[in-house]
Amino acid sequence: MNPDRRPLIAANWKMHKTLAEAISFVESIQRETGPCSDREVLIGPPFTALKAIRDNLKQQGYSLGAQNCHWEEKGAYTGEISPLMLKDLGCAYVIVGHSERRQLFGETDETVRLKTAAVIKAGMAPVVCVGEVLGEREGGKTFEVVGRQVEGALGGLSAEQMDGVVIAYEPVWAIGTGRTATPGQAQEVHAYIRARISSLFNKAVEKNVRILYGGSVKPSNIDALMAEPDIDGALVGGASLEVGSFKSLVQFNV
Ligand code: PEP
Repeated sequence: MNPDRRPLIAANWKMHKTLAEAISFVESIQRETGPCSDREVLIGPPFTALKAIRDNLKQQGYSLGAQNCHWEEKGAYTGEISPLMLKDLGCAYVIVGHSERRQLFGETDETVRLKTAAVIKAGMAPVVCVGEVLGEREGGKTFEVVGRQVEGALGGLSAEQMDGVVIAYEPVWAIGTGRTATPGQAQEVHAYIRARISSLFNKAVEKNVRILYGGSVKPSNIDALMAEPDIDGALVGGASLEVGSFKSLVQFNV
């Protein structure tokens, strides 16, 4: 963690929680942690709970985010939700290019790029997910794959548009598997992403961009991950669903 970049602990609830469960969670977590001034907490519920959570998020340091969006503002896209609608609901962030969307719903570097640009245009910050699958890691292709995904999503943006953009490095083999990248493995890829950002934009963007780690983050490994200089937070699936474990993550120590 670098003190210049405010750490971000982000919950990706995926397709979990009814309205009542979502409201109960946000009431409890805010009560348990109190205000967060030196770190930011992002709650990413399913679309159905966004409004209820917005109405119940009062604690300093808490933000609302969606898990996906379409890239168009409006139109004949049955079942889709636009960045404008999410902004209207009070979202500050939208997760784009999560590996589950790439693997299960056919997202490509091109659709991730369109979504990233649309989220920025609507005045929110994208959390752009990148990461290699196990075969790519074992084949020594991690940097090549992650570099292609970073460039695919962000290429064409200006340095000004990068203000607020968050990148999440999520090795696919570590998502929901209980198998976490070691802090050293994660740091190596984060440093690579940061260098790539420098060559795509400039030193100021390199220094300011927040890069989260995601993949089986839990209370027992967050402190070691956050101690790495290029890890600025965590994108958390499983351990974000229970108040007790998420509270421990929000209250990480370095
Ligand atoms: C995720 O889905 O973004 C994720 C990191 O999940 P988990 O924490 O369960 O590995």
